Amino acid sequence: MTETRNGKGLLIVVSAPSGAGKTSLCQELTRTLPNLTHSISYTTRAPRNGEVNGKDYWFVSVETFEKMVAERAFAEWARVHQNLYGTALATLDDMRNKGKDVILDIDTQGAMQLREKMPDGAYIFILPPSMEILEERLRKRQSDREDEIQRRMAKAREEIAAYSSYDYIVVNEEFQTALAELKAIVTAEKCKVAYINNSWVDTTFLGG
Ligand code: 5GP
Repeated sequence: MTETRNGKGLLIVVSAPSGAGKTSLCQELTRTLPNLTHSISYTTRAPRNGEVNGKDYWFVSVETFEKMVAERAFAEWARVHQNLYGTALATLDDMRNKGKDVILDIDTQGAMQLREKMPDGAYIFILPPSMEILEERLRKRQSDREDEIQRRMAKAREEIAAYSSYDYIVVNEEFQTALAELKAIVTAEKCKVAYINNSWVDTTFLGG
């Protein structure tokens, strides 16, 4: 088959307030799009029940994290809910150069840092249908205490305020609809001029 694309992997960056359904949507997206890989972040927070090092996160000490910051090993990093989180630059570049599409599930501070460095990415913000539904979803998780819920609601307001810095907004009212919208964004990104194989255009159409 003719290589019409240049083979560089997409950068898909997704942020959302906690409870908007971002994790399930991203998991389903990577399950159904075989070329899409979830970037594994580094974090200083303790693993939750069932979380696996190297699968959910790379769980590291504050010392290790700070050393990586000093060595400029992160494409972006931020403090979220008292813990540090970061995306390794080398891994991200490596995956994209190998043609893998990469999806990052990161907070708004990290996404804004990355946007400066990597403007070729697709920056997507997922919204819940309303604040009431967001609160309802947070309560259904039960694992969170009242003060934790209030803290997450305040954080959600803060994060939603950054919506206009993103390229796309997906409202997660109905899971399958939101998923279809995310898939459409990935497809649209693939068709961008930045991902065309220039030499194919030259030889095929321009006599180069
Ligand atoms: P959790 O601890 O619940 O897994 O994640 C808390 C928040 O940290 C989420 O909003 C998640 O998107 C964000 N996060 C996870 N990994 C990274 C990362 O590498 N960089 C940044 N900036 N945020 C991250």
